[in-house]
Amino acid sequence: MRIETAKNLRKLPPYLFVEIDRAKRQARQEGRDLIDLGIGDPDLPTPKHIIEALYKAAQEPVNHRYALDAGMPKFRQEIANWYRKRFKVCLDEDTEILPLIGSKEGIAHIPFAFLDTGDVCLVPDPAYPAYRNAAVLAGGVPVVMPLLEENNFLPDLSKITLTQAKKTKLMFINYPNNPTSAIADLAFYKNVIKFARKYNIIVCSDLAYSELSYDGYAPPSILELNGAKEVAVEFHSLSKTYNMTGWRAGWVCGNRDVVAALGKFKSNIDSGIFQAIQIAGVEALKSPASLINSLCNVYKERRDALVGGLKNLGWPAQAPRATFYIWTRIPFKMSSIDFCRLLLKKADIVATPGIGFGKYGEGYVRFALTQNKNKIKEAIRRMAAL
Ligand SMILES: *Cc1c(COP(=O)(O)O)cnc(C)c1O
Repeated sequence: MRIETAKNLRKLPPYLFVEIDRAKRQARQEGRDLIDLGIGDPDLPTPKHIIEALYKAAQEPVNHRYALDAGMPKFRQEIANWYRKRFKVCLDEDTEILPLIGSKEGIAHIPFAFLDTGDVCLVPDPAYPAYRNAAVLAGGVPVVMPLLEENNFLPDLSKITLTQAKKTKLMFINYPNNPTSAIADLAFYKNVIKFARKYNIIVCSDLAYSELSYDGYAPPSILELNGAKEVAVEFHSLSKTYNMTGWRAGWVCGNRDVVAALGKFKSNIDSGIFQAIQIAGVEALKSPASLINSLCNVYKERRDALVGGLKNLGWPAQAPRATFYIWTRIPFKMSSIDFCRLLLKKADIVATPGIGFGKYGEGYVRFALTQNKNKIKEAIRRMAAL
């Protein structure tokens, strides 16, 4: 029998990291000593108190059953507490917060709740690939908002045509940004809200990196602004803040109608998050500030080692104020793919080519600070010898 996939699935490019993983596996099989600065997956373990909470909760038979689709009230309450403390934003835990099986799950499903065939979803480029791909899978039309260095990697909303704006139902924004590590201030979010209200657009703000910041900077939430809840939801995750990428726990919060629609869609797809993970999530959110401070200090040292080293090699790298990525122009006349192939072949270093995040990422490379400082220094030595 000939197996034919859905047209929308065929429209997707192969998942970027799958290709990189294949090349990495091959290099490992050849016994080479790779330094992997490719994937944005923390190398540090989940803090002990969170693992202990999971261990304890996992022993309780009451947690072995189907979880509530809407998530445990205790988890939603703790999310509301966290938002109040961190952003001074009040959220109703019953209607304005919905736990997700990792924020990617919600990001990938929200287009299905809102896009009809042909509806536009505005997506940044370069960007986390899920925004664009989810819009395509849902039958929507992704329209790219270029993130250009001369605009500090913020989208220029005035470049979106009237025809596009009128067809748009959803837009994704993500600051602190993956992959560019750019940040946004409240003035930017204010403009986004104004634009969204004018054209009836649901704003999906991805705040996965809000806690990884340096030099005294604290990234804001769009929900801090008056009127934000009329148009916006925010996606959040335990993954990067607490080194919990494998656990799959996050949430969406903000506009209650949007939260309810995504909840309705999801109730037909999944059956909630394992309760023991939600209980561990409560413990994570209750962690003392010192936990995140020391994590940020670790990344800051790595950031300074990598950016300092690249600068010494004549790269135009700059120290970001948030995220664990260094996004920099490649100072050679070659494509980002060719550069990353060369880096892997000649220096056993894995980095992510900018083009993997969209065509406006061409000419750039992303280094993730997910290796210890010594490894990063070794990577710089190898690059110096290239
Ligand atoms: C890592 C990442 C996420 C996904 O987080 P999960 O909660 O693990 O699904 C979402 N958005 C961006 C931009 C990310 O880099």
